[in-house]
Order: sequence, then C-alpha cells, then structure tokens
Amino acid sequence: MANESMPSENRDAPVAARVQCPFCEIVAGRLPAAVVYEDDDVLAFRDIAPRAPVHVLVIPRRHLVSVMDLRDEEALLLARIFSAIREVARREGVAERGFRVVSNAGRDGGQTVGHLHLHVLGGRFMTWPPG
Ligand code: 5GP
Ligand code: ZN
Repeated sequence: MANESMPSENRDAPVAARVQCPFCEIVAGRLPAAVVYEDDDVLAFRDIAPRAPVHVLVIPRRHLVSVMDLRDEEALLLARIFSAIREVARREGVAERGFRVVSNAGRDGGQTVGHLHLHVLGGRFMTWPPG
C-alpha cells in the first residue's frame, strides 16, 4: 500500500512514475475519497479507517514524502496546508472545542503512507501522550 521508499527526488516525477502512491491516486481522481476541502494546492479527505469521530487527512497535491521533504521554498505551501486545516476544523465543527494535528514521519513515527499528510483528529477528547 504505502510507498515509503519513494525517493524525494521523485517529487516532480511524471504521474506514471507515481502510480504506487495511493494519495497521488486520490489527487488524480483514480481512487475515490470523501473530500471535505480542496484548492489548487491542497486536498483534504476523510481517513478510510478513522480513529476519532472527525479524522481528516490534509495533503499537498504535489508528492512530498514527509515533513522531512519540506524546504524553505515550501513556506507558502505550508501556510496553505494550515489554512486548509483551519477550514476543515470549521467545516467539521471542531474549531471551537479543539482538535489535534499530527504528521507521522518515517518508521519510528509510524508513517504508513509515503505522501506527506496531516491528520486532523477531533470530536472527542484527545489523550496525551499518543502511543
Ligand atoms: P500514517 O499511518 O501514514 O500516518 O497515516 C496514513 C493514513 O492513511 C492512515 O490513517 C490510513 O487509515 C489512511 N489511508 C491509507 N490508505 C488510504 C486510502 O486509500 N484512502 C483514505 N481515505 N485513507 C487511507
Ligand atoms: Zn503521492
């Protein structure tokens, strides 16, 4: 399922080279997803195996592997991702009560899909620390 081995140099690879990435497939419209927000740079859709009443994944349309793939040049993209997160929180009704934003990176971080994504979790009290 996940393609954690996809090198970050593949970020600008043609679509044909990225067919193994499920989130690129969702961006391309070849894999269905329950989209809750989208703009030119960012897509947000419901997690297929939700861990909370609200569990939305916010991703850049462009393939980046993880937080480790972000460069200073991605500052605007990062701002747009967080702008999308605020909009998702409003649309999902958790903006006032609160929610959690998580991005797992790499093996020890528990990342299972090698396309940068931020989990937006809410609708229940989130315990700390995470497992
Ligand atoms: P990670 O484990 O990498 O932090 O998070 C990956 C998340 O993607 C998991 O919560 C998993 O349930 C979700 N996921 C994996 N494949 C798909 C898919 O094809 N569609 C959707 N909507 N979510 C997926
Ligand atoms: Zn991808």
